[in-house]
Amino acid sequence: LVIYLDGEFVPRSKAVVSVFDHGFLYGDGIFEGIRSYSGNVFRLKEHIKRLYESAKSILLEIPLTQQEMEDSVLEVLRRNQLPDAYIRLVVSRGAGDLGLDPRNCKKASVVIIAEQLKLYPQEFYDNGLALVTVPTRRNNPDALNPKIKSLNYLNNILVKLEAARAGVMEALMLNHEGYVCEGSGDNVFLVKDGKVITPPTYLGALEGITRNAIIDICQRLGIPCEEKPFTRHDVYVADEVFLTGTAAEVIPVVDVDSRIIGNGKPGQMTELLTREFRKITVVEGTKVPGLA
Ligand code: PLP
Repeated sequence: LVIYLDGEFVPRSKAVVSVFDHGFLYGDGIFEGIRSYSGNVFRLKEHIKRLYESAKSILLEIPLTQQEMEDSVLEVLRRNQLPDAYIRLVVSRGAGDLGLDPRNCKKASVVIIAEQLKLYPQEFYDNGLALVTVPTRRNNPDALNPKIKSLNYLNNILVKLEAARAGVMEALMLNHEGYVCEGSGDNVFLVKDGKVITPPTYLGALEGITRNAIIDICQRLGIPCEEKPFTRHDVYVADEVFLTGTAAEVIPVVDVDSRIIGNGKPGQMTELLTREFRKITVVEGTKVPGLA
């Protein structure tokens, strides 16, 4: 496995960053998780755009143009001959001194790791997930704004641990007003009376690229789809619930806080959207040049 590190392609054992890197010292940086399907990188431009928007928001200068970043992602896949991969792009503030001030960090550090895709267990898709809602709240409109995919994921990590303590894999976060926001690393949708509904991101959610793809699919197929605030009650009485994310794609949810969703099985709309999503993943992507 070769890893892109600050303009060079290095073996895994040499892919190390400084302990003075502010990404390590302070969580000062941003990231993206991207996926390739049969040699096509799904919505690469959108992921790169979100990365640069996160960077802009935290005044982080990325030492590459968006085109150079795109080319570097493709080059990592080519060098590793990985047609189906999970790609992690990280930009940290870089090495500085122990003080907080990022102006002492000379140059942002860029890392691109591509690895063999680890698929979620098939039983998640066949049987659906159980979720809980947790005490950790999502929204914070300042630096921890959920729209910034920052290296500071403590909130989401606590949510993951809260889910584990409740004996489930994933959880839903609410905002301070009690509206449902998203999972620890996935967006949430519900289906009610034939309508597909997801929370507006201003409530406190990442503008997920899979989320946007699902909205696009609904529009194309003429399925009513709305961005609308909803509460836990709406989740409990939904016909279907599902999560979306780059790694997970579309995962059905069949139980939330011990309320059985619908008939307790993955719903028809979820299955339809999963099929449609999988169709576009192989046809829509940016082709990786030079794959065997
Ligand atoms: N919400 C959070 C907090 C995430 O970290 C992610 C993962 O990237 C998502 C949602 C899903 O976004 P996407 O579909 O772009 O992967």
